[in-house]
Amino acid sequence: MQGRSHLLVGLAAGVVIDSIFHLSGPPLTGSHDVSLNLLIDKGVYYFAVGLGALLPDIDNARSTLGQKLGVISKGIQKLAGHRTFFHSLLGLAFGSLLAIGLERVVSYLLELRGYQFPAQFITGSHTFFFGVLFGCIFHIAADALTLGGVPLLWPYKQRYGFPPNSHWRFRTGSWPEFVIVWVIMILVAVGVYNAVIAI
Ligand SMILES: [Zn+2]
Repeated sequence: MQGRSHLLVGLAAGVVIDSIFHLSGPPLTGSHDVSLNLLIDKGVYYFAVGLGALLPDIDNARSTLGQKLGVISKGIQKLAGHRTFFHSLLGLAFGSLLAIGLERVVSYLLELRGYQFPAQFITGSHTFFFGVLFGCIFHIAADALTLGGVPLLWPYKQRYGFPPNSHWRFRTGSWPEFVIVWVIMILVAVGVYNAVIAI
């Protein structure tokens, strides 16, 4: 899938998960005092989901994230190849470790700027870590819908996809990708709209 599709699917799924588990704090809808601290908590969560949704394509120098990282992505692509380690369970574990480190950095930077409460909230609830983890999972799941599938058990080379028969899957960047992304977006928008109306 393309970077933009990953970002949209990841953020949409992030909204659904957050509306169930409230990882980023209490919901904004119907809340009477929306504080800056709460907005920061939410911002950090969605930033993390977006980052996680793009992270596995760090192994593709032409991807959205790859273009930003330049030499790093080129090196990774040369070493490992696209859709190998970073699209597997091992890659997911690596992404989680990276997220734990980045979470500390984010919390430290917030504290440095005087945002004590969001910093504590993030370290206490692991908003950032879970955001990146969910983003990565949605990325790998979305790529599993494409023709190429994903090498979930890398270094074992077998690629897995859904539906299991690759004839039913679509090619990255082809029209079914846009249909799937927009159907997901519309469903989430309707869900959010209904939730707001219900309040
Ligand atoms: Zn990918």
